[in-house]
Amino acid sequence: MVDYLVKATVFDGKVRAYAAQTTHLVEEARRRQDTWATASAALGRTLTITAMMGSMLKGEDTITVKIEGDGPLGAIIVDGNADGEVRGYVMQPHTDLPSNEDEKLDVKRAVGEGTLSIVKDLGLKDYFTGQVPLVSGELSEDFTYYFANSEQIPSAVGAGVLINPDHTVLAAGGFIIQLMPGADDEIISQLEQAIEEFPAISTLIESGHTPEQMLEKLFEGEEINFLESMPVRFQCKCSKERIVQAIKGLGEAEIISMIEEDHGAEATCHFCNEVYKVSEEELVGLLPKK
Ligand code: ZN
Repeated sequence: MVDYLVKATVFDGKVRAYAAQTTHLVEEARRRQDTWATASAALGRTLTITAMMGSMLKGEDTITVKIEGDGPLGAIIVDGNADGEVRGYVMQPHTDLPSNEDEKLDVKRAVGEGTLSIVKDLGLKDYFTGQVPLVSGELSEDFTYYFANSEQIPSAVGAGVLINPDHTVLAAGGFIIQLMPGADDEIISQLEQAIEEFPAISTLIESGHTPEQMLEKLFEGEEINFLESMPVRFQCKCSKERIVQAIKGLGEAEIISMIEEDHGAEATCHFCNEVYKVSEEELVGLLPKK
């Protein structure tokens, strides 16, 4: 099954809902970054939520999410776009902590205390930035807090990742529910109760629930207006061309030293761990023609 997300409205448009199944893209990130269990869960939750936030953008707009906590994981950096493409990494991928008291992956302790920052590049040099303190470290709650405080949109965010005993990703997914103007107290209390009783998302995905079925379970008995379905995937923007351009920008002296000392250059993309090798001949080609 291909990863995808759905967008919907409920309660006559007074509530907006997003749900995603991201098992494959989180596994792709785990494979590329060689993340251990707790790191996979933290990165996977962030990738899942960023994929849904990206789907709220238009055209060429992009979003960058930075979670900078003081826990053993270090920072989590994820970016995404309006086409359902996300990429990301964590500073310390080999983070695996003992389970917490609920027998769950201890993402909270791995992340620690710090900040959640969002930058949206909206084109034509128009940026939106928001930063909030991490109120939980479990990430879903932190994004919920971010939406309420930085975007003034009351929201409920959920994301979960289940890891196999061999450390591969068994299931991943999430939802974002947002209240639009006109959502009254009755809707709010009905939603609060539904969310409180909602089973773990990763367990639902594992048992075969689609994003549509997750929303049907969450909004049981209500009419759901599904607006759109779109694929989501791990996709990096790096290329040999970009690496070569970056080296060119370092200047002649630096390139000459790469040729003389290293007989070539090697660069690794942080986002996808792809290694690019630039040969001595290619470096010579970057020097001004004499
Ligand atoms: Zn890359």
